[in-house]
Amino acid sequence: MTMKQIVLLPGDGVGPEVTAAAVLVLEKAAAPEGVEFSYREHAVGGCAIDRFGAAITEEALADCKAADAVLLGAVGGPKWDDPTAPVRPEQGLLRLRKELGVFANLRPVKVHPRLVGASPLRPEKLNGVDMVVVRELTGGLYFGQPKGREVREQGHWAVDTMEYHEYEIRRIAEMAFRLAQGRRGRVTSVDKANVLETSRLWRQTVVDVQRGFPDVTLEHMLVDTAAMRLVTTPASFDVMVTENMFGDILTDEASVLVGSMGLLPSASLGAGGPGLYEPIHGSAPDIAGKGIANPVGTILSAALMLRHSLDLPAAAQRIETAVSNALDAGNLTMDLGGSLSTKAMTAVILSHME
Ligand code: NAD
Repeated sequence: MTMKQIVLLPGDGVGPEVTAAAVLVLEKAAAPEGVEFSYREHAVGGCAIDRFGAAITEEALADCKAADAVLLGAVGGPKWDDPTAPVRPEQGLLRLRKELGVFANLRPVKVHPRLVGASPLRPEKLNGVDMVVVRELTGGLYFGQPKGREVREQGHWAVDTMEYHEYEIRRIAEMAFRLAQGRRGRVTSVDKANVLETSRLWRQTVVDVQRGFPDVTLEHMLVDTAAMRLVTTPASFDVMVTENMFGDILTDEASVLVGSMGLLPSASLGAGGPGLYEPIHGSAPDIAGKGIANPVGTILSAALMLRHSLDLPAAAQRIETAVSNALDAGNLTMDLGGSLSTKAMTAVILSHME
């Protein structure tokens, strides 16, 4: 029996509800593989601020770094929303991503045929939507220095810096091209090269990386055009690669295609260390504690964990097939117009794994 170490960071709001659901499914998927998981659980985000005065503790970070993989729910909520507070929930997440060195965030976006009616887009636009957005996660505007705010005589002034090194662009581009090789062989690199210097470096580096992947076609797209194309011709994308903030915005836009924020998983990967897996949604304070959160995004994140960090692709496939079959059979949570609770949806998915 092989033992794999997983750190659970349920976090705030609906985080603990969807994480608990994903662990049940994870256990069932891995059972036939002769693998056992041992778990360590830590507070992150608002609940960690309340208990420890920090959005993540050094002990939690050390456990995450020593683990095979990390599964996170969500962080944040109205209680900790003061933008001027010295410690904020998302600092825990940003620190964790940085310390794990997970520079690539993969967000698969696939429209399930049963759910085309749940999207505000017309059904014919959604046929064949199956893409992965690869978002750079540890550079760009969210990390560039200097940043801050100064009060000057003439008023208030604030600065954030968009900064990229060539090696940061190169490694994320390589990941996107490798991914495209296993898919439909198309990479769309999104930038703002008509305005931003970092985007010109981005474009030049991506072109250079493509020389090593002659079997993959590359197109460049300005971020404003990409925002438009995501809703006009979403099925035209295969792998989209982009910098941190553009990716943050475009992936939320892409989530609308599938019908609910609650459906989408993500994987954050680095150069060989533990991966970080989380749904793309936040802590959903409006429905937290009601037992109605859609667990599918977190359950599919667990599937990504099995595939990318735990080397159990068959177990990952079992989860993805069970989710797909459960949705096919019309089992829907409230965000999708159904009536199933978190626990009931989880039970249906588990039953499809029998
Ligand atoms: P959100 O994703 O939490 O919620 C947006 C909407 O989607 C809400 O109506 C919510 O009920 C719904 N929703 C989200 N997840 C769902 C699920 N699993 N099932 C059913 N419905 C779901 O975004 P928000 O309201 O902008 O942010 C709430 C808090 O979450 C904020 O404090 C924000 O900072 C934080 N946040 C955290 C993360 C993260 O932890 N990675 C990401 C985004 C937002």
